[in-house]
Amino acid sequence: MPAPATCPCGGASFATCCGPYLSGAAIPPTAEALMRSRYTAYTRRDEAYLRATWHPSTLPPTPIVSDDEALRWLGLEVKSSLRLRQRKANLPESPDADTVEFVARYRVDGRGHRLHEVSRFVREHSGGESRWYYLDGTFPA
Ligand SMILES: [Zn+2]
Repeated sequence: MPAPATCPCGGASFATCCGPYLSGAAIPPTAEALMRSRYTAYTRRDEAYLRATWHPSTLPPTPIVSDDEALRWLGLEVKSSLRLRQRKANLPESPDADTVEFVARYRVDGRGHRLHEVSRFVREHSGGESRWYYLDGTFPA
């Protein structure tokens, strides 16, 4: 029997990892869960999910998913979240802001690349519901 498909983000299975977030059945409870689900959305070229989880204040008007058919996402490595670092250092945490540092690997035309990004996320509350949104990212040297 074939093993169940692992989640593109590195989780055990798509059905129990990012699948429920992409389908709308569940809301990512943390910035890291949102970040992972957005990576998975990139691998599946899910433009609608990427737009829905990008904060309106920074959402680009142009398409997010690359038309470059040659681009293949290879894997994701989450380095750490800001809140984890703050907790370790006993610094105050903001409940509605977080950052996640990650490295995503991809290949274009047979050449491997690394995307090293520190993403910022904010949480919005409305109608008794809380949702994390991607805000923007910086690229450490
Ligand atoms: Zn996943």
